Formats: sequence, structure tokens, C-alpha cells
Amino acid sequence: MKDNGVLCWKCRKVVPYKVNSRKRVRVIGDKEYEYYEKFGVCDECHEEITVPGLDDENERILDSIYRADNDLITIEEINSLLKRYNIEKRPLSHVLGMGEHTISRYIEGALPSKRYSEMLRNVLAYHGLMRDYLEKNKEKITDAAYSKTDKAISMIEKLCDHNTKTEVIAQYIIHRAYEVTDLSLQKILYFVKAFSWALLGRDIIDEQCEAWAYGPVFPDIYEKYKVLGSDVIRDYDKSIKFDTYLKKDELGVLDHVIDCFGIYNGNVLMRITHKERPWKDARLGIPEFAPSCNLIPNETIHEYYEEINSKYHLGEVKGVKSYIRTLDVIHVG
Ligand SMILES: [Zn+2]
Repeated sequence: MKDNGVLCWKCRKVVPYKVNSRKRVRVIGDKEYEYYEKFGVCDECHEEITVPGLDDENERILDSIYRADNDLITIEEINSLLKRYNIEKRPLSHVLGMGEHTISRYIEGALPSKRYSEMLRNVLAYHGLMRDYLEKNKEKITDAAYSKTDKAISMIEKLCDHNTKTEVIAQYIIHRAYEVTDLSLQKILYFVKAFSWALLGRDIIDEQCEAWAYGPVFPDIYEKYKVLGSDVIRDYDKSIKFDTYLKKDELGVLDHVIDCFGIYNGNVLMRITHKERPWKDARLGIPEFAPSCNLIPNETIHEYYEEINSKYHLGEVKGVKSYIRTLDVIHVG
């Protein structure tokens, strides 16, 4: 759009232009909404000109301000709801007991009522609620549509299961850390294991991990989340009461590890573990990125982290930072 220029009526030719913005106030209902409107300016005569697409963009800006102010669900959220439950607009309308075209109209920009907006947000947040609606209204949609959504919900249900302490710890990390992937989750679990030994003198994760190509891995947890590939993991049991599963000092170690390591992406965390003795020793000379599932014995993690702790005081963020700095994988502030 910008490359081709637009027609300026004053200059009587196609001209290059700039997009500026100015403060505007619009009244909707009985309330004033302030927003920044974009407009085009001719590069040659500096008069305002019409730029195709800008009006739509301005409407979208105002729309998102209005929705945020009125706490209404956004079109983006409704789209993510359709994707999350692998369902089309029409069957979703039926499942939720709305008029056949309701969801389509919302996607096109119609504003939902407060009640429907809340309902859609709850369904997006709680797959159990979506399950209830699906079962209640399954007669209203085709078998194919039902089975697609049933499968999507079943997958989420599986991700939210927690039958072992390690699964609970994994869910705590997903709930507490920022944008966790299977790769970063594995590394944070490893540091939780290492730090709990160094700081509490016990392993809060019993399972041993393996020295895979991309760092230490807990195979059961890997199996559970691998369906997501490198996507961010968002699902965990939202009704879980972590303090009934984990002791106070364990939650303390978890928070500390998440504060220290949750700021890095999976790739950086992997490089940290690749510099550490437990992973390297378990690899026994296997090239850095070659596959392996050699066990990393608990003892080697214990020994290494006792040593590191006495040198750097891992109970303090400062100590952890200076330890990471010595590994020379990233600039640490
Ligand atoms: Zn002009």
C-alpha cells in the first residue's frame, strides 16, 4: 500500500504519503471514548489524504477500546475459542444454545451482550464447562462435529490430569512461569530437582531424568506434552490447590527457580544444562546434539549442585545469576 502511494486530489497525482495519528473523542451510548485516530498526509502538499484501509483500522482501534472498557470478549478471543475446541461457528452457536448465526455475527464484529460475552469467556477458560455444553447439546450438531470437539476437549483433559507429584510441579510451573514450552518445562523441572537437593537437602522430584540431545528430560512429562510440539503450554487444572500437594518450603524452591530461570526461553535453558557436569558426564562422549536416553543419576546432580551451592549460594537470586554468568551462555544483568 505504502509503496504505491495514493492519489492526492490537490496534487492531482499519485503521491508518497505518511501516516500520522491524532487524538479523537467519540461518543458511544452516553460515554466518551478517547482514542488515537490514524490519518494519511501527502508528502508533497502536506494536506490530509484518504488512505485505503485506514478507516477500517480506526474502527478496529475504537472497537478494542470500547470492548476493553466494557469488559466484552474480543473477536480474537472468540477465534481462539473456535480453535481451542476445534469447532466451527455454527455448531458452536448450537452447542451454546445461541441462534444459529450468533457466533458468525460476533466474528464479523457485532457486539455480544454482557451475558453472552461472559459465557464465551468462561467456556474459553474452562474446558469442563465446554464439555458440559457439548454433552447437553450433542443432538443439535453432526456426529463429525461432535467427535472433533470431543477429541479436542479430551486432549485438554489429559493435559490437566495430575496423578504424580511431578505432574503437579509441572502444572505449577505452567501456571506461574511465562510462556512455558515442553523444552523449557523440562529444563525448569531439572533445576527444581537440583535446587531442592541443594537448598532443602531432599529431592522434591523423585524421578530421575535422562540426558537427551536437548538437555535433561523427564520422559513421562515429555510424553504428556509432546503433542503440543514447541507451542506454549497453557492448560493446567485451574481448580488445583497447589498447597495441598506441595509443602511450603517446596513451593518456595519452585518460586525461586521460576524467578531465576523462567525468564529464559527453552533454548537458553538447554545451553545452560549443556554446560553442566551432570548432563555432560551422562553423555559419555556422545556428540552434543546426538540422540541418547542415558540416565543422569541423582548422585551426580546432588554432588554437582552441593558444590555449586557452596560456591555461589543458590538460595539468593544474586548467587544464581553469578553462577549462570560463569557458564557463559548469555549476558546476565
Ligand atoms: Zn498532495
